[in-house]
Amino acid sequence: MLLSRGEHDMADNIIHFVLARLPGAPKGTRGISLFLVPKFLVDAAGALGARNDVQCISLEHKLGIHASPTCTMVFGDHGGATGFLVGVENKGLACMFTMMNSARLNVGVQGVAIAERAFQQALGYAKERRQGHVPGDMGEAMSPIVQHPGVARMLMTMKAMTAAARAICLMTADSIDRSRREKDSFARERAAERASLLTPVAKAFSTDIGNEVASLGIQVHGGMGYIEETGAAQFLRDARIAAIYEGTNGIQEIDLVQRKLALSGGAAVHREIADMRAAAGVLRNSNAENFGEMELCLAEAVD
Ligand SMILES: Cc1cc2nc3c(=O)[nH]c(=O)nc-3n(C[C@H](O)[C@H](O)[C@H](O)COP(=O)(O)OP(=O)(O)OC[C@H]3O[C@@H](n4cnc5c(N)ncnc54)[C@H](O)[C@@H]3O)c2cc1C
Repeated sequence: MLLSRGEHDMADNIIHFVLARLPGAPKGTRGISLFLVPKFLVDAAGALGARNDVQCISLEHKLGIHASPTCTMVFGDHGGATGFLVGVENKGLACMFTMMNSARLNVGVQGVAIAERAFQQALGYAKERRQGHVPGDMGEAMSPIVQHPGVARMLMTMKAMTAAARAICLMTADSIDRSRREKDSFARERAAERASLLTPVAKAFSTDIGNEVASLGIQVHGGMGYIEETGAAQFLRDARIAAIYEGTNGIQEIDLVQRKLALSGGAAVHREIADMRAAAGVLRNSNAENFGEMELCLAEAVD
């Protein structure tokens, strides 16, 4: 059951996309078909008819994302539910992957968004909260905690991780756009390959750092981070699911290593590495002070 919110009365009808097997279908993922199962059956003129045999029997109790209901649905307990085949028999998984590919980037962006929110909240708190004195400060008032090196390090780590994840998501989105809009068919193919390579990275890296940044956000708040009132704890509870749904990050690793690194006999990933080396070269030649050690760090990480 995909993304239907289970049961509600905010719409006249609800449609559930359901993966199921037809009788005699091949075993494993090759025998899965996609069906559309409506709450109410619809007649030829589009009018709502009888209630279909699909019931929401409970709401799941979750760690986070409490504004998004997740339901246990039961199909066909009272005689049989009617479903309508979508696409071709036994090709349901391919249909689902059409949705999952865009969903994976969307979930990656959830990681970036929650990390950014956690960072902004932590930075605001660190500027207001005063504790101790930074070395050399002899004043009577205590220092804002943002001035303590340990707190500043956590904030900078949060900011750097979020920026890196945002850049990967943007690169992925750019490649998807190019795969559709480039005039030259060769350029479209190249872009599609790059999008394919980057998608599991965008999903897994961004949602992993979503968790890490939200956790650091709590640490910046000290005890108040553990108290619901500040909202810092909610970011961590809400971030946790993103590394799990739309394919766990473990499954993204498998996709990257087994399928994506092998794209075009490894040419796609080699192009990506060559691009990174070229970026390090541009940084080196720019000799710009603001980039600091960035070129060395990038070159070291690539090679
Ligand atoms: C709040 C919530 C909302 C959801 N919404 C939807 C939805 O709208 N639609 C939908 O279809 N699903 C939905 N899901 C299901 C979700 O996509 C799955 O829970 C998720 O993909 C993981 O599958 P699983 O629970 O079967 O875990 P499992 O597959 O049992 O995985 C357990 C662990 O084993 C690892 N693992 C599994 N297989 C392998 C393997 N082959 N090799 C190595 N490691 C492996 C996983 O990485 C994980 O760490 C939702 C789940 C939750 C919690």
